[in-house]
Amino acid sequence: MGSCKDDHENQQDCLWVNGPIIVGAGPSGLAVSACLKENGVPSVILERSDCISSLWQQRTYDCLKLHLPKQFCELPLFGFPENFPKYPTKRQFISYMESYARHFSIEPKFKKEVKRAEFDHGRGVWRVQTQDFEYVSKWLVVATGENADPNIPEISGIESFEGPVVHTSVYKSGAEFKQQRVLVVGCGNSGMEVSLDLCRYNASPNIVVRSTIHILPREMFGLSTFGIAMALLKWIPLRLLDKFLLLVANFTLGNTDRLGLWRPKTGPIELKNATGKTPVLDVGVLSLIKSGKVKVMEGVKEITRNGAKFMDGQEREFDSIILATGYKSNVPSWLKASDFFTGEGMPKTPFPNGWKGENGLYTVGFTRRGLLGTASDAIKISRDIGDQWRTIKNNKKICFSHFPLNR
Ligand SMILES: Cc1cc2nc3c(=O)[nH]c(=O)nc-3n(C[C@H](O)[C@H](O)[C@H](O)COP(=O)(O)OP(=O)(O)OC[C@H]3O[C@@H](n4cnc5c(N)ncnc54)[C@H](O)[C@@H]3O)c2cc1C
Repeated sequence: MGSCKDDHENQQDCLWVNGPIIVGAGPSGLAVSACLKENGVPSVILERSDCISSLWQQRTYDCLKLHLPKQFCELPLFGFPENFPKYPTKRQFISYMESYARHFSIEPKFKKEVKRAEFDHGRGVWRVQTQDFEYVSKWLVVATGENADPNIPEISGIESFEGPVVHTSVYKSGAEFKQQRVLVVGCGNSGMEVSLDLCRYNASPNIVVRSTIHILPREMFGLSTFGIAMALLKWIPLRLLDKFLLLVANFTLGNTDRLGLWRPKTGPIELKNATGKTPVLDVGVLSLIKSGKVKVMEGVKEITRNGAKFMDGQEREFDSIILATGYKSNVPSWLKASDFFTGEGMPKTPFPNGWKGENGLYTVGFTRRGLLGTASDAIKISRDIGDQWRTIKNNKKICFSHFPLNR
């Protein structure tokens, strides 16, 4: 990494990066860095927090396990240890990430939050600003994730509630909610798993289901439902696959509509591909709903001082509220003058073609396909940049140490 400080006497310190700048040291950033290294390309990772995989280390609950079997969550070039179970725990996943970073000697720059990144058309480079430096490179890889910031919806009256209101990003375990009446807003995988966890601590969760939802068994015939879906998709059309999944789900789980969990008209995989809405993989909460330990409530009309009023006219008291309302991308807040992303911070071009933009812009992990999508993006990006890197090196077109950067 060279300095361009001479050109910036009174401005923010500026550093020329030899290779791509990667923003984010989650699984996606690490995977790209490792694959680039394999292609002989150095890179610099800028990470806002103080550790790798901060989503997993700092913003997930203790009982979390991978939702999908480990073979679908491996990063390229270095797999999970063989002795890990089929669904590794959060701790095991973090230890895998740490081994991965160690194996490829990846050392991100921590506490470097990217505040702004913009392509300088005059110079043909990306200018990436953190709180203390400006980093400059020919390539920018966006790896800040689909889950960068908590999504906090507006709920009428929530400011008047006198008990704690927490997002799942700060929920650790049901121990903090022992014996409490808890309103869980949101019924995705997190909302369901948190409700299950609360029951372990004799809390009484009421889960709010605001829209339709697909629940599938995590396994079918002893095999992962996701694995079966992936395998069958090679042979049968998507809609037929969805019909098959719903047939087996109805047979094993029963009719979920009767529990207040109405299924969408579109099938689970078709819906996931079109909107990113992931089906809930049941890990035990459905039996608690059936037994009445977890109550399903229709949408919230209004939060009151000590509870909630619901759309169906019911009113209940609660001690705490947990918002299992998901996350959102933060790309629009820092990537400027680029029309590659939507207002929601997702690439406008969907998978499998959303990994490459213009002027050396790349994105990894924005596929709505979890870590499987990350692995696919990382390989493509590293090959693409690797080819450019070799051409540049062969032609010796750029003298890295004397790159002029006057603004
Ligand atoms: C509860 C939960 C369970 C999940 N389970 C699975 C699963 O079983 N299987 C699966 O495939 N996927 C799962 N996922 C999806 C998950 O998002 C991915 O597995 C994975 O974490 C995505 O990696 P990423 O690197 O793209 O994003 P992240 O893990 O979110 O990493 C992005 C990194 O970028 C950093 N960052 C953000 N903004 C900036 C900035 N401006 N400047 C610098 N750094 C920044 C963040 O601090 C973070 O470290 C789960 C997600 C959640 C929330």
